[in-house]
Amino acid sequence: MKMNYDERAAYERMKPGVLTSVGFLGKDTRPLSDIIAADEELFRALALDFDQVADRLETLARKGAEGLGEPITVEGQFLVKSDEARGKLPCPYGDGLYHKNAVSVQRGEDSIIYSDLSIHLLRVHHFCQGEGSPFRLDPVVLKRLLG
Ligand SMILES: [Zn+2]
Repeated sequence: MKMNYDERAAYERMKPGVLTSVGFLGKDTRPLSDIIAADEELFRALALDFDQVADRLETLARKGAEGLGEPITVEGQFLVKSDEARGKLPCPYGDGLYHKNAVSVQRGEDSIIYSDLSIHLLRVHHFCQGEGSPFRLDPVVLKRLLG
C-alpha cells in the first residue's frame, strides 16, 4: 500500500456529497487503511493481482465501448455495457482526473460496475471502495467473474 498520500484528506473526499453524491465508502464505517488492508489480504488469499485485474477491467471496458452504450457480449461470456464519459472526476487522493464513465460487466449471477477512476483506485491505491458502495469491486466477486 502506498503511504505517501494524505489518507485523512482522501477519506474526507470519499464521503457522500464531496466528489460524488454517493461517495466511495458505502455503508462501511472502517478506517480507510483497514478497508484497504482487508481487501489486500483477500486479493492475496484469492491469488488475484491488482495490476492484472485492473488490466482486465480496462480491456473489458474498451471492448464494451464498441456497443456505444448498448450491452454487448464480449469474449463470448461477458455482457458489457459501457456508457460514454460525461466530464471528469478527480481521484480522492488528489493525483489525477478520470473520465466519469460507467461500465457494467455481467457474467452469470455476478456483475460489477466501474469507471476509469475505479480502475485507478484499484491499481494505484488498492482501494476497492467500501462495503455497500455501488462501485465496490469486491474481490470475491472479481474472482468469480473474471475466473
Ligand atoms: Zn489516485
